[in-house]
Amino acid sequence: MLKVYNTLTKQKEEFIPLAPNKVKMYVCGPTVYNLIHIGNARPIIVFDAVRRYLLVKGYEVNFVQNFTDVDDKIIKKANEENKDTMEIVNHYIEETLKDMHNLNVLPATANPRVTNEMTEIIKMIETLIQKETAYHINGSVFFDTQNFKDYGKLSKKVLEELEAGARIEVDNIKKNPMDFVLWKPKKEGEPYWESPWGQGRPGWHIECSAMSKKYLGEQIDIHAGGEDLIFPHHENEIAQSEAANGKNFATYWMHNSFLNIDNKKMSKSLGNFMLLRDVGEAFGYDTVRFFMLAAHYRSPLNFSDTLMESAKAGLLRIKNCLDDLNFAIKNTENSPIDQIDQSEELLISQIEIYKTRFYDAMDDDFNTADAISIIFELVKMTNTYIKNGRNKKLLLIFKENLYNLIDILGLIYETQEKQDSLSDEKILKLIEKRAIAKKEKDFQKADEIRAFLESNNIQIKDTREGVQFKRV
Ligand code: AMP
Ligand code: ZN
Repeated sequence: MLKVYNTLTKQKEEFIPLAPNKVKMYVCGPTVYNLIHIGNARPIIVFDAVRRYLLVKGYEVNFVQNFTDVDDKIIKKANEENKDTMEIVNHYIEETLKDMHNLNVLPATANPRVTNEMTEIIKMIETLIQKETAYHINGSVFFDTQNFKDYGKLSKKVLEELEAGARIEVDNIKKNPMDFVLWKPKKEGEPYWESPWGQGRPGWHIECSAMSKKYLGEQIDIHAGGEDLIFPHHENEIAQSEAANGKNFATYWMHNSFLNIDNKKMSKSLGNFMLLRDVGEAFGYDTVRFFMLAAHYRSPLNFSDTLMESAKAGLLRIKNCLDDLNFAIKNTENSPIDQIDQSEELLISQIEIYKTRFYDAMDDDFNTADAISIIFELVKMTNTYIKNGRNKKLLLIFKENLYNLIDILGLIYETQEKQDSLSDEKILKLIEKRAIAKKEKDFQKADEIRAFLESNNIQIKDTREGVQFKRV
């Protein structure tokens, strides 16, 4: 039975979707004015793993992740670079999609953008005004938190407590300090849209309520994001959606914990961030994915080069095992399928136990950390068998099971390349890369490229005429 930790109830609950076999999932996406940092990559990776596991469990998953493409930070960046905001956001959306692809993240069912959804956003604000949970003052529209009785139910904050802590803003035209903006009037030099309240643009929170409704309907199963979104973003989304639709919004609220540096949240504003692009290029994107999934998504995770090195080594242990396994299978190509003896029967039942334990770990609130440690146990057992046993049938059973478990987490994807033969063009590119590495005295990289080619049955020879390659 799949159990999910729900921030709303603060406990693990049995996962029961609204409609049988179908899951509607919305994950708050990035504000696109920069390349993403590896803290941002955490929700991207962990909720992709959640989605993949739901698919394995037989659910059809409708997965929506938005891009926030209008925001103060985007406008600031556009002004600094003397560019149009659309130019900035188009560029960073494209780059973020590239990053997601590099992390082996399945493409979303939809990636809506705020600037394309103004009609839906304005419609929802109008509904909230009609229902008297929003009010209009001088071109601004605010959500009236006093008129939504459940305000605070996600973050477990009571309104009075929130009010006491709220800063009194200079430009205080709100009825209540906790009320939040749904529509703001146009400022000189900023992008704007026409609305019943004059020219302006939406506040941040309303976009997700409106887009979730348009792409997934009034009620969804899972709403997810980083834990910094619990308050105010998700609290406000609940207020808007439930007030407008008169229905419970999301059944399960899932939040990943932070990726930290020196025990402080990695964030753009603190300036302690590392770009995913840089970390991915240095250690491999597959290492980043492995590193994130080797921890449970609700545990804080520290980032350091040393930890990335050990993640890389860990992933390599799995890759090497698969390579050795494939090699052993290749060596038995011409041998007949052997009978399974009693000791081998025992190994098969042991594999079944690992498999069950893997599924149990994933059923327990997507415990990818335990799931990966079970993969390592299976790797260890496989390595031992390869050394001593050569039963083709059993080798194939090992292979099938290892690949299945690894695929559920989407862990190894560079080796997929190995299954197709490399094109001449690709081989030449790699040879060129190796030559550059040698020139730069990066012999480890040069050796890795040679090893990669060899594992793809490409032999290379350094000659006076240059590097020759031959398929063996
Ligand atoms: P932002 O672009 O800041 O709105 O963040 C996009 C997503 O990344 C949100 O779900 C955030 O909660 C998440 N996020 C930002 N920083 C971190 C971090 N250091 N660790 C984990 N998640 C983060
Ligand atoms: Zn959101």
